[in-house]
Amino acid sequence: MGLNSWNTYEKESPGVMEKPLACWEGRDYYKDEVLPSLTIILKTGGCRHNRCRMCSYRFERYKEQTPDKLASLIISQLDWVLEHHNLEKIRMVKIYTSGSFFDPDEVPQGVVNTTARIFKGKLVVAETRPEFVESGRIGEFMAMIDTGEWDTPLTVAMGLETTSDFIREKCIDKGFSWQDFLSAARETHTSGAGVKAYLLHKPLFLTEHEALTDMEQSIRTVSGIADMISLNPCTVQRHTELESYWKSGEYRPPYLWSVLSLLISAPVFVTCDPVGGGRSRGPHNCGTCDRDIVDAIRDFSLSNDRGLLIDVFEKGCRCRAEWEYILSGEQPYCMPLSG
Ligand code: SF4
Ligand SMILES: [Zn+2]
Repeated sequence: MGLNSWNTYEKESPGVMEKPLACWEGRDYYKDEVLPSLTIILKTGGCRHNRCRMCSYRFERYKEQTPDKLASLIISQLDWVLEHHNLEKIRMVKIYTSGSFFDPDEVPQGVVNTTARIFKGKLVVAETRPEFVESGRIGEFMAMIDTGEWDTPLTVAMGLETTSDFIREKCIDKGFSWQDFLSAARETHTSGAGVKAYLLHKPLFLTEHEALTDMEQSIRTVSGIADMISLNPCTVQRHTELESYWKSGEYRPPYLWSVLSLLISAPVFVTCDPVGGGRSRGPHNCGTCDRDIVDAIRDFSLSNDRGLLIDVFEKGCRCRAEWEYILSGEQPYCMPLSG
């Protein structure tokens, strides 16, 4: 069914359908099951924070729209999803925006309600910054999608990035604190929804070793609070501050060895999709061993079988010694103290 038959917004230009920024079908591991999933990245009014050093999603936004026009543009993207994907076979839906799904200025309430109607009965994961988490709104959305099929039909995902306030502020410029995340996690749990935390492995200015230690600490600390944890090895996105450092040789994405060792030693199951794995802009090793390791990480994320990771780690490669040397020998990023 076309969505426009049941939404209250008129399309600005009939016949012209907006497409989401991206939309693809895949599989996700959830409570010992592999579920067919749909991931949707919606173009919206854009992220209000709009300044993280590594982020290019924030450039994707409809500018200066009235709330009604904005709503019709987003609804048109949902209509596109309905026309191009068979939702019957999909069990999990992951919704991302170019910012926060629960920011009412970015995604008008009418769109949130329509999204809930379309994905009723699915296991929904929706991403937002913590300042937009309010138990009443989260609870309302969850009640709208709930058909009784899932114990926790909604999971609120937040880009915590690290549990270190210092690193989140100085290396990322994320604009919220660990305490803000904790309050949002409490609100989410009060509403009955689950919490997913995204962690950013190796933001700007950290050595390989500092980044590894930061993630070990973050996984340990957040594991008692978040119901799901996803490790995002940092990639170099275009037109970002991170990219300008990378271009001048002042940043290198993490080694896949570091990613492997984090996933192997984590006290809880941590999923990871090494986007850009094996490429110079993404987490990479020497180029020879990358493909096998990226495949092992993806297979692990669908099975929670750590043996897959241990196998590729133990198989090794000539670049593993290089990684070990970097871990022990690389010096912290230093600016001169005087001019
Ligand atoms: S909060 Fe998210 S979308 Fe906004 S700038 Fe930061 S990383 Fe990008
Ligand atoms: Zn190698």
